[in-house]
Amino acid sequence: MALVSAKDFLIAARKGGYGVGGFNTNNLEWTKAILKGAEESQAPVLIQTSMGAAKYMGGYKVCYDLVKDLIDSMDITVPIALHLDHGEYEDALKCIEVGYSSVMFDGSALPFDDNIKKAKEIVAAAHAKGASVECEVGSIGGEEDGVIGRGELADINECVEMAKTGIDFLACGIGNIHGIYPANWEGLDFEHLKAIAKAVGPDMPLVLHGGSGIPLDQVQKAISLGVSKINVNTECQQVFAAATRKYIEEGKDLEGKGFDPRKLLAPGTQAVTDLVKARIEWFGSQYKA
Ligand SMILES: [Zn+2]
Repeated sequence: MALVSAKDFLIAARKGGYGVGGFNTNNLEWTKAILKGAEESQAPVLIQTSMGAAKYMGGYKVCYDLVKDLIDSMDITVPIALHLDHGEYEDALKCIEVGYSSVMFDGSALPFDDNIKKAKEIVAAAHAKGASVECEVGSIGGEEDGVIGRGELADINECVEMAKTGIDFLACGIGNIHGIYPANWEGLDFEHLKAIAKAVGPDMPLVLHGGSGIPLDQVQKAISLGVSKINVNTECQQVFAAATRKYIEEGKDLEGKGFDPRKLLAPGTQAVTDLVKARIEWFGSQYKA
């Protein structure tokens, strides 16, 4: 199957009351791991690159070619969107140009009027090529690619204004943060989520950033109230690191040819697939391809 825009499967998720995972990749192994998890679960997913991860992987064209070619060679049958996560304006345009089927333009650090103006331009460029667009109002707490936010609740009027630009799904702060949740985290603000969902209407899927470490009951409640895309990044990093650490601490790299990178990276890669499948089950998108 070719890469698809995320619009149709996120609208289907919004109507169907389930969520779709946006899983960040960093390399060949992770990309294969996410695709394998999606296929085995028969779930649509977004494979996401941050600007930093794409640079690490060799650029947006490399990411596009990698995902497209793996979909082919792995005989992937489920809908896959290749999505830019937290993209700046120029990066979003570049991704649309090379063939990403979805982009997030994150203008949350700009004055609101500039964010809206640039969002409209990204929407026009993306939709001309059949790609979907996510935008953000307010800022989401924690740190992502060096962008630090304060963890605010998105302004309802700004959400409505942003929804009117023609974007396909909306990221908005509801008490969620990026990275690891602190012990004193107060949880998601469901009243605020309800108010945003009501204000933007049922045709605008909402995106929950910082999906790693939010408890199951809160994730599922958020989905029931209008969240249709949940971003998972930190948790993949944690399970990959833990499985790799275990392999080395058990001395397996010192047994036979255990130092072969194909062996060394295998447990971590499997751990990412297992996590992707587990989160797809949480979100309820298994067998929704
Ligand atoms: Zn994010």
